Amino acid sequence: TNGGDLDWKKGPCRFCGVGCGVLIGVDKGKAVAVKGDPNSSVNKGLLCVKGYHQIMCIQAEDRLTHALVKKNGKYVQMPISEALDIVANKMKETMDTHGKDSVAMYTSGQSTIPEGYVASKLMKGAIGSNNLDCNARLCMASAVTGFLTSFGADEPMGCYEDIDHADYFITWGNNMAEMHPVLFSRMLEQKNRRGAKIIDFATRTTRSSMASNKSILFEPQTDLAVANAICYEIINHGWVNKYFVENHVNFNKGLTDMGYGLEDNYSFTDKPTQIDFEAYKDFLEDYTPEKVSKYSGVSVKDIKYLAEIYGNPNTKVVSYWCMGMNQHTRGTWINNLVYNIHLLTGKISQPGNGPFSLTGQPSACGTAREVGTFTHKLPHGVVTNAKDREMAAKIWKVPVERIPSKPTYHATEMFRAVDRGDIKFIWTQATNPLVSLPKTSRYRPGMQKDSCFVVVSDVFPTPTSDVADVILPASWHIEKGGLYGNSERRTQYWEQMVEGPGDTMPDAWMFIEVAKRMGYGELFPYSRENHVEEIFNEYRQFHEGAKHGMAPLEVLKKQSGAIWPYVNGKSTQWRFNAKYDPACTNDKDFHFYGKPDGRAVIWQRPYEPAPEIPDDEYPFWLNTGRVIEHWHTGSMTRRIPVLHKAVPHAYVELHPDDAERLGIVNGEKLKVTSRRGSCVLPAAINERGLPTKGQVFVPFFDENMLINDVTLDAFCPISKEPDYKKCAVKVEKV
Ligand code: SF4
Repeated sequence: TNGGDLDWKKGPCRFCGVGCGVLIGVDKGKAVAVKGDPNSSVNKGLLCVKGYHQIMCIQAEDRLTHALVKKNGKYVQMPISEALDIVANKMKETMDTHGKDSVAMYTSGQSTIPEGYVASKLMKGAIGSNNLDCNARLCMASAVTGFLTSFGADEPMGCYEDIDHADYFITWGNNMAEMHPVLFSRMLEQKNRRGAKIIDFATRTTRSSMASNKSILFEPQTDLAVANAICYEIINHGWVNKYFVENHVNFNKGLTDMGYGLEDNYSFTDKPTQIDFEAYKDFLEDYTPEKVSKYSGVSVKDIKYLAEIYGNPNTKVVSYWCMGMNQHTRGTWINNLVYNIHLLTGKISQPGNGPFSLTGQPSACGTAREVGTFTHKLPHGVVTNAKDREMAAKIWKVPVERIPSKPTYHATEMFRAVDRGDIKFIWTQATNPLVSLPKTSRYRPGMQKDSCFVVVSDVFPTPTSDVADVILPASWHIEKGGLYGNSERRTQYWEQMVEGPGDTMPDAWMFIEVAKRMGYGELFPYSRENHVEEIFNEYRQFHEGAKHGMAPLEVLKKQSGAIWPYVNGKSTQWRFNAKYDPACTNDKDFHFYGKPDGRAVIWQRPYEPAPEIPDDEYPFWLNTGRVIEHWHTGSMTRRIPVLHKAVPHAYVELHPDDAERLGIVNGEKLKVTSRRGSCVLPAAINERGLPTKGQVFVPFFDENMLINDVTLDAFCPISKEPDYKKCAVKVEKV
């Protein structure tokens, strides 16, 4: 077929947070073709290699098509309605015996908005427990806390159209050519067409570095110091936008009170203290380019070069980052520090000027952040805020007292609680924690213990479903309708395009069926046929008004998404700028209305070394990440033959000098060992990426080579996001 006789249905790509628009060609009830949606302003018809091949995974032979229940150590196939009976009975029995906080749910930035919403409603509104967290904790929680501390409002202020206006793109620890490939293609187009420049600031040389105008390498963790040095230069060269700073900025120091509450995991020992510009300037004396150059590995010249780009009043600059900054034991701080640069220069919330934190998963923004499938979150609000609880109780029609005001377990702590035996029932959906959690060498035995009943909903078998007591077969993206929210605040809808095989069921409907069986049916009065629409219409009530309003379904059905705040029939592309954002009400040009006084915050944040650094016994830094061909833990893309053949297994990249010194040749099997565990992989020398000397890099997509057995589960104390990018390892021949 040339595609002309197919029924083309629109929707977002199943994979990354770029949120490309795709068209799926359906023939006689089967998805048979994919092309980029030319009407999508995100990708303008282009897709990456994952996007083009996405539908091939649903035909995998080992697809989960029926519920499996473990009996006497063996899985037995069962009708899904009976498996859901078992799940509901076990959940209820566990709560009756051990209390409501003995059960937990762990969901995903790949869950749809309706799925996240009913998970939150079931756990927080019906059961009355905050034991709900999601895998987005592992990839962008630091971005959330960065936004909240600096602006009092989550998610980027700009949009992808910034790419068409910026003179410079500075990427911070971010391999966009592989992780956000379609956006990187848009940047390359601007580079070629009008001379926009891409500056890659990273700890290793990647495909992004090779396509950039300039690559600047820094020692792991010293991004904190370099960002401060850039601010030092901006101030000392008189490049501060004085009008902007005087009118729109406060200066703070001290640890952060996020407003999450004062309980254990979410308490901070001191509140922010306001300081003045002079005190901030004094603090930066420790970060002269000369001082920072000594330990960051960045030359004085390059620090000054970066500062000049930001400081030049005639250039437009966008900063991009993702996991490199967020998976950081000071993830919140490094987010704040990049905001400091943009706030000092006033280069923010304007076309082509702004800091832009990218997301990894397709609905990390829409589901994890906006619906709020985190322990401390409610749709739109936080559990510690009485007004937010009242709003949720009113919309959910539950007594407000039922919604607990204290957060419980963030992701890492949730699996520690499973290991300790405090959580006795856990249900994971659309995520694979036994490949993706840091230090899985600890959490795998925890999940295998008899003390915890494990339910896994997924599309394919994974190492996580291998330890499940019940496996529920989930519908894949196009086999159910849904909505995702991408990195630029764009909400995108798609309708169900094809039927799933066997007993597969949308995750949202599994929750609803279990809720009904547990006696909460009156709170979930949705119909199987229209539940996506009915749930989204209920959820939209949380997001009314000029600051958060979401486009109605009629609009989302017609066009390839809309950016919130959606006000008077229009997307708001640049928040906080009165020229574009109707929510600005302070009669000034900019209004950071997330903060009570409308002013954003420049934070005094020091450099702090990483918690584990290489030494004589473990002399290499280990960095982990992804490759363009594979999506996260590989459960989908490794079942797409062309992608699997392209990169069939993980590997460990070394610098050629280190390889030569150790007598290692390409392809040779190596054992990478940390204080926590080890992993055997083939060496990759002068292949895809080039780590700097003394560093190694391993992608984490391969369930047969589990590098997360080796990584460290230390996390940012504010965001609770672990640092997968730095720990100390040794490398030995096997
Ligand atoms: Fe899909 Fe991301 Fe590739 Fe776009 S860039 S096609 S959203 S994986």
